Amino acid sequence: MNSLRSYDIKFLKGVGPRRAELLKKELGIASGYDLIRHFPTHYLDRSKVYTIRELNDDMPYVQIKGRFVTFNTIGEGAKMRLVGLFSDGTATLEIVWFRRIKAIRDSLTAGTEYVVFGKPSSFMGVKQMSHPEIDLPSSAAAQQPVRGVYPLTEKLRNANITSRQIAAWVNTLLKSRSRIVDPLPQSVINDNRLMSLDRALSEIHNPTDSESLRQAKLRLKFDELIYIQVDMLRRSMRRKNISTGHRFTRVGEMFNRFYRECLPFDLTGAQKRVIKEIRADVNTGRQMNRLVQGDVGSGKTLVALMSMLLAVDNGLQACLMAPTEILATQHYETISKMVAPLGIEVALLTGSTGRRERQRIHSALTDGSLSILIGTHAVIEDTVQFHNLGFVVIDEQHRFGVAQRAKLWTKNDIAPHVLVMTATPIPRTLAMTVYGDLDVSVIDELPPGRKPIETLLRYDEQRTQVYRAIYAQLRKGRQIYIVYPLIEENEKLDLRSLEEGYQLIRETFKDYSVAFVHGRMKPAEKDYQMNLFATHQADILVATTVIEVGVNVPNASVMIIENAERFGLSQLHQLRGRVGRGAEQSYCILMSKHQIAKTTRQRLELMTQTSDGFLIAEADMQMRGPGDIEGTMQSGIPFDLHIANLATDGQIIQLARRAAEKLIDSDPNLSLPENSLFARELAAASKGIRDWSRIS
Ligand code: ADP
Ligand code: MG
Repeated sequence: MNSLRSYDIKFLKGVGPRRAELLKKELGIASGYDLIRHFPTHYLDRSKVYTIRELNDDMPYVQIKGRFVTFNTIGEGAKMRLVGLFSDGTATLEIVWFRRIKAIRDSLTAGTEYVVFGKPSSFMGVKQMSHPEIDLPSSAAAQQPVRGVYPLTEKLRNANITSRQIAAWVNTLLKSRSRIVDPLPQSVINDNRLMSLDRALSEIHNPTDSESLRQAKLRLKFDELIYIQVDMLRRSMRRKNISTGHRFTRVGEMFNRFYRECLPFDLTGAQKRVIKEIRADVNTGRQMNRLVQGDVGSGKTLVALMSMLLAVDNGLQACLMAPTEILATQHYETISKMVAPLGIEVALLTGSTGRRERQRIHSALTDGSLSILIGTHAVIEDTVQFHNLGFVVIDEQHRFGVAQRAKLWTKNDIAPHVLVMTATPIPRTLAMTVYGDLDVSVIDELPPGRKPIETLLRYDEQRTQVYRAIYAQLRKGRQIYIVYPLIEENEKLDLRSLEEGYQLIRETFKDYSVAFVHGRMKPAEKDYQMNLFATHQADILVATTVIEVGVNVPNASVMIIENAERFGLSQLHQLRGRVGRGAEQSYCILMSKHQIAKTTRQRLELMTQTSDGFLIAEADMQMRGPGDIEGTMQSGIPFDLHIANLATDGQIIQLARRAAEKLIDSDPNLSLPENSLFARELAAASKGIRDWSRIS
C-alpha cells in the first residue's frame, strides 16, 4: 500500500502531467493509492442484449447489437451533428453525436457488427441514442458483463476523460503492481470472514458477479471503519491512562444547598442519572469528556448548572459556552436567578459586553473571585484568562468549531472537564463512530406535566383556516413563530419569499406586532429582533431557521413552518421544540404545497405522529440518506471515507467496533509483529487530527 501512496499517477501509462494535474484538481487523485480507491459509484449490467423494437424512454442504459446503415451530417457550425442509422433487424435507431464528429465518423464503418451501449430516448417518435459506447463484439469491454461507472466532473468530461478511461487507468494499475499485501491482521480477516484486500480491490473495479461485489464492498467498508474504531478506542484509552483531570472529591455546600433550597422542581430520573454519571467521571482523577444528548426541553441546562456547582464546591471555576448571544444571555438570566440565594458570582461575556464590564470580568476571573462565566465564543478569546478553570460546558456543539473547542486547553495546565450538550439526536451507530472516544449520556425523559405538542399538516389552500387559528391564539395572549426555509442555492429567491411572507403577516395581523429575523442580518439587529419576541414586545416572530437553536419563550404556543417539505425531519423536530415549553397546549403546523412526492408526504406525516427525537433521526437518515448529518460528522472523524457510509452501514460499524475491541484488548499498542502492518496503515490513513480526543 505504501508504495502505491508514493506512486505519482502522472507516471501511469496514458496519464501524463497535464491529465494528472486535472485528476488531482477535479477528483483529488494524486497517487496510485488514490486512484485505486476511486471506486465506481454504480455499475452497468451488460449481460443482456435488447432488441431495438423493445426499447423505450424509461429504460436505463441498455445494450443492443447491429449494424450502421448510413451516416449523415446535419446542420452547420455549433449545431452540426452526426446521425448514424442503426439497425438490428427488428427496428432502426438513430445514433447522434454532437462532439468529436470527425473522429467518430472515421472510426466507424457501415455494415460492420457493433455492440452499442447507451441510454435510449425518442425524439418525435424516432428512437435515439446520443454518444453511446460502441465496441466490436469481440472486444474486452463488450465481454465484461458488469462494469463500474466512475464519478466524473464537467471539466474532466470536456477533457475527454471518460468513466471508461478511468477504468482503463485503474486496470493498468491493477495489472502492473505487485500483489497488495493485506494490512489487516489475519485473525481479523478470519474472524469476520473477509475477502482479501487484493481480491476486493480487483472486484470492486471489475466485479465478476454480484455476490463477489457485495463481499468486496463489505471488505473495503470494514477497512475504513475499523481504522476509525481502533483509533477512537486508542484515543479514549490514552486519555484514560494519561490525561490527568481535576479530582472533585467534595460534593459540597453549593451543590447540596442548591439541591435542597433552590430547585423549583424535582429532577427527572434521567437528569439524576446523568448527574450521577458526571459525578463519577469527575472523581476519577482523569479528565472527563462526556456528551449529553437530550431532546429539546429535556432539561439539559439544569444538568449543566449542577455540574458546574460541583466544580465550584471544589474551588474551581466553571464556564458555559453557547453558540449565540441570545442563548448565552438566556442561560445567564436563568442561571444567575437560580443561584442567587447561594451568593455565587456569575458573569456574562459576549461580543457586546462593554469595555468596563469586560475588564471587571477579566480581573475577577484571574483573581478567582468569579466562579461561573457564561458566554459566547468570546470566552475563548486569548485575552480571557482563568485562575483555575475546572469545568467547561459547551451547549449545542454543532455550532462550535473543532478549533474553537481546542482553544480551551490552552487556558490552564490541567485540562478542564468537558461536557458537551446536544439536542440533535444522533443514531447510535453514528454516535459510536463520531463520538466513539467520548462517554455518552442520554436524557431520555421529559419533565413531567408537559402537554405533548399537537402537530398538524396543512396545505396552502387551508391557509385562511390556519390564520384563523393563529388569531384565536393571539387573542389569548399567546405568541407565534412563523418559520421560512432558507436554502443557500437559491438564497435570493428565498429571501424574497421570506420578505413577502413578512409583509403578508403584517397586513394580515394588523393589530399585532411582528418581529423579523434572518441569518443575513447583522448580529446586533438579529438580537434586537429576537429580544422583541423574547420580551413579548412582539407577538409574532417571522424567521428563518436561525431560531433553531435553543431559544426559550414559554409563552409561544404555535410554530408555523412554511414549505415544511423543504426541511429535514430532524430540523423540523428541532424547530418544533421551540414551542410546548409553557403550561399551554401548543401546536406545530407544517405548511406544504399540495403537490408533493409520496415519500415527502410520508415524512411529514411521521412528524404528526411522533415526538421521539431518536426515532425521527433514524427515519430521517433512512429516508433522506445521511445528508447534513453525515457532512458535519465526517468532518469530525480523523479519516476520509470513500466507500463506507456512516448513516447506512450501521451493521458494518458494529462489526468493525467489535473487531477493534478484540484487537486492542489483545494488543493495546499494536506492537505485535502480526499487527505492525496494520499499525503503519492506520498512521498513514489518518488525516492527522492529533488532538481529537482532547477536543471534545
Ligand atoms: P433543553 O434540554 O432543551 O436545554 P432546558 O434546560 O432549557 O431544556 O429546560 C427546558 C425547561 O424545562 C426549562 O424551563 C426548565 O426550567 C424546565 N425543567 C428542567 N428540568 C425540569 C424538571 N426536572 N422538572 C420540571 N421542569 C424542568
Ligand atoms: Mg438548551
